[in-house]
Amino acid sequence: MQQFQQYIDGAFEDGSARFESLDPANGRPWALMPEARADDVNRAVEAAERAFFNPEWANMTATQRGKLLIRLSELVAEAAPRLAELETRDTGKIIRETSAQIAYVAEYYRYYAGLADKIQGAHLPIDKPDMDVWLRREPVGVVAAVVPWNSQLFLSAVKIGPALAAGCTVVLKASEEGPAPMLEFAKIFDQAGFPKGVLNIVTGFGPDCGSVLTSHPKIAHVAFTGGPATARHIVRNSAENLASTSLELGGKSPFIVFEDADIESAVNAQVSGIFAATGQSCVAGSRLVVQRSIKDEFLSRLKEKAENVVIGAPDDMATEVGPLCTEKQREHALDLISRSTHMGATLVTGGADCEGEGFYFPPTILDCTAVPDAPCVTTEFFGPVLSVLDFEDEAEAIEIANTTQFGLASGIFTRDLTRAHRMIRAIRAGIVWVNTYRAVSPIAPFGGHGLSGYGREGGIDAALEYTKIKSVWLRT
Ligand code: NAD
Repeated sequence: MQQFQQYIDGAFEDGSARFESLDPANGRPWALMPEARADDVNRAVEAAERAFFNPEWANMTATQRGKLLIRLSELVAEAAPRLAELETRDTGKIIRETSAQIAYVAEYYRYYAGLADKIQGAHLPIDKPDMDVWLRREPVGVVAAVVPWNSQLFLSAVKIGPALAAGCTVVLKASEEGPAPMLEFAKIFDQAGFPKGVLNIVTGFGPDCGSVLTSHPKIAHVAFTGGPATARHIVRNSAENLASTSLELGGKSPFIVFEDADIESAVNAQVSGIFAATGQSCVAGSRLVVQRSIKDEFLSRLKEKAENVVIGAPDDMATEVGPLCTEKQREHALDLISRSTHMGATLVTGGADCEGEGFYFPPTILDCTAVPDAPCVTTEFFGPVLSVLDFEDEAEAIEIANTTQFGLASGIFTRDLTRAHRMIRAIRAGIVWVNTYRAVSPIAPFGGHGLSGYGREGGIDAALEYTKIKSVWLRT
């Protein structure tokens, strides 16, 4: 079995304990991971704190930090095949997607490299001739970054990139489900030339590792991506030290299709909107809200495409839908479907467990028009399951779209741009995609409202989350 190591204070080590990681394609253990316990986490935070005050990092110019991030971006691009392969092996995310996403990861580091020397303060023209007042933007301190299993390299890049650009240091906790790509990333980071302790990477379980990290008194900011239940623990943990938090949580995003939409383009976007990443995506367009007049046609085209999706081994370039990451995810999907069909939701396709080994689950569509309050409509699956609702007019579409406690993403498909503008204003979500879905860029902020969390990743806003303002008054 392959063995991985954690990364603390610029050194690779085995961790207090070890645990087995399962290959989601067959359910069998394939690697041994280091399990960080309280002692490891405490050492990682101490190392990050020493690095934060170490003049080698604290006095480094922003331009120099940017150069190191550029080097990191280059190294990530060079190691892309290895990183993609490991992410695929350990999480089951298909190789087509991990390979494509690694290119984005390198892009995000490059973007934050360029931003490092543009994070700036301001001069204030106050009403006193003998006083000079200005604002310094300073790094917030030691950051705890906690990520879930899906897209770990990406979800950590959107934290590590802006945090280091701002001059912070970081302890990152990789998910216990599939940490291999992050532990491999540690080796790449080590080559980039940052002072030791600037980034530390551990993995382990929520209570022993995550909880100790996020409640540590030396943590100034917690950047979290994961589920709302864990987010509540994290906010309670960080409240003890009044550390700031940014939370990127789940979603139940509406995918709204009007009768005047380009139907073929909307069907294709809906297929990738829900089945990409085997549905394990926070922005999955998991509630189709379709105009009644085109519902039958739309569903029949969608069903055909869903039934022709290539399900297969995650390391095969031809595969379009791979396994879920864990057995627990599969049980969760089966449970939600069974409770919803008992209430009156009807299966359009899928629903049953895939046969054979591994954590596979077929693309599934549930017609929920008779039961709009069924669990499949209200609860995040984090799997390849689409719930369908229909509407008569724009007002009803808005009401359905906003009937959720989440507020992460949304999609609108219409040729009527005036209507699109009204919808953009009315929808409660952090992201609105019009006649497209899932588009991302390092330049554009990303985040949600309500149970989808708060704070933004991506863009300049993300870098500012890792800074604090110091007001300076100088009598002249
Ligand atoms: P999760 O909340 O169970 O776990 C996420 C991370 O938190 C893991 O590393 C876990 O070990 C850690 N953790 C668990 N308990 C903890 C505790 N008490 N204290 C500190 N850390 C703890 O999430 P998951 O099930 O791994 O991931 C799926 C969720 O993540 C979904 O809800 C999904 O929508 C969300 N997600 C959101 C985004 C986004 O950008 N908005 C992106 C991807 C995933």
